[in-house]
Amino acid sequence: MAPTHAVVLGGGLAGMLAASVLVRHVDEVTVVERDKLPDGPTPRSGVPQARHAHLLMSGGARAIESLLPGTLDALFAAGAHRIGVPNDLVSLSAQGWVPRFPEMQFIVSCSRGLLDWVVRSQALRDNKISVLTGTEPVSLLGDRDAVSGVLVEDRISHERMSLEADLVVDTTGRGSRLPAWLVDLGLPAVHSESVDSGLAYATRIFQAPPTAASGFPIVNVQANPRDPQPGCTATLLPIEDGKWLVTLSGTRGGEPSTDESEFVGFARSVRNPVVGELIASAEPLSPVYGSHSTANRRMFFERLKSWPAGLVALGDSVATYNPVYGHGMSIAAQSAQALDAGLAAGHSAQQIQRGIGKVVDGAWAMATNQDILYPGAVGKPLPLAGRVLQRYVDRLVRTATTEAAVTRAFLDAFTLSAPMANLVSPKVVWATMRGPRSASPEPTLTEDERDRVTG
Ligand SMILES: Cc1cc2nc3c(=O)[nH]c(=O)nc-3n(C[C@H](O)[C@H](O)[C@H](O)COP(=O)(O)OP(=O)(O)OC[C@H]3O[C@@H](n4cnc5c(N)ncnc54)[C@H](O)[C@@H]3O)c2cc1C
Repeated sequence: MAPTHAVVLGGGLAGMLAASVLVRHVDEVTVVERDKLPDGPTPRSGVPQARHAHLLMSGGARAIESLLPGTLDALFAAGAHRIGVPNDLVSLSAQGWVPRFPEMQFIVSCSRGLLDWVVRSQALRDNKISVLTGTEPVSLLGDRDAVSGVLVEDRISHERMSLEADLVVDTTGRGSRLPAWLVDLGLPAVHSESVDSGLAYATRIFQAPPTAASGFPIVNVQANPRDPQPGCTATLLPIEDGKWLVTLSGTRGGEPSTDESEFVGFARSVRNPVVGELIASAEPLSPVYGSHSTANRRMFFERLKSWPAGLVALGDSVATYNPVYGHGMSIAAQSAQALDAGLAAGHSAQQIQRGIGKVVDGAWAMATNQDILYPGAVGKPLPLAGRVLQRYVDRLVRTATTEAAVTRAFLDAFTLSAPMANLVSPKVVWATMRGPRSASPEPTLTEDERDRVTG
């Protein structure tokens, strides 16, 4: 029998995780990547968002670890921080300061460049995976019933070749051309939806004060979509090498500028000035980088009545989310787990794609139900049931500012560690109905933490 072969389009985070799944099921895997992949944690043009804050939630971290055992230790050895949540989190949620209860979940905090490099190094230790860099897919081979490979082109020589494959997995991210390729195969246009709050990001890296270079919390001031003004946020992440990565964001009408002289002022102007105060005297190490790639956009591949055998998509090529929720990478990792489970169970490509749709559902609802509330947001208005549910979630998040059981339920869902359905378990509904006691009106930064920066 001929060896079985799978092709992964795109060698980003989702691509490397998909490749690490596929080697469990086929003899050879080829990853087709447009960029040259750096041998280090350096930014590259194919992942421009890597300049900005990237929180890896515990639900995603566990998924990566299950696919590539040893990755979390490798990340921590390379300087990533393990931030206990909510004990190492100073966070003003839409409804108030989150108390620093003992650890319930965790976040991996490092630069996106480091995360990608470590995951890639772990995946490529398997010599059944090879990478064709500087190469792009041109079209799918096969027909509307079954994909049999992909036609690729070298970006410099423009030489083309056909890669025959038993399975093609598209992970080319938000610019994926899969919807057009499906139409070329004779399939109908894929239904898509988007909710765009018009959010812009601005990010700068700072040298953390030596006394705060390690053991410092994530500090995060979120927006409240119910406020009548644009939603503005400021987030300080401790990353590797004793640095702080600070990301500011604002929805339509409240976008942060990339002018360096306005950075600290914007950080002070959000709902609480704590991030601005912490960075006021810190040494900047980078220019200010901007991004507008923040819309929630979903391709409902799983809704196509017919789907070709031998084709799956996952990661940002299926759905992107407003990045302030920090869910894209975790959903990519959990989708790779769904791919693994589907292949192990002998499911068809269509069944696997439907499974990936289910993985996307929770994060999609969480992001879009909030974002549509911001002034000037573009997208389908929430139906009545959605508006009622959203009122319940507002009260739940408010209750989470004092009631540990509700904080846990909320953080389990927010870190994608438990199904959203747990938010409506009888215990959580009852506590939410009772509501919060009086929450802290002040940032939950300790005296010691503040002194380590200002003192
Ligand atoms: C500003 C910003 C901040 C974010 N913050 C967070 C966060 O805090 N937490 C979180 O979990 N997520 C965050 N996200 C989302 C996260 O970046 C994505 O969900 C994640 O990168 C998805 O991985 P991916 O591999 O699907 O796509 P990508 O990371 O975009 O990778 C796509 C890969 O495909 C390659 N490629 C593209 N086109 C082609 C082609 N035609 N041929 C060959 N190769 C191609 C690219 O070079 C790249 O290697 C953020 C996103 C943005 C925009």
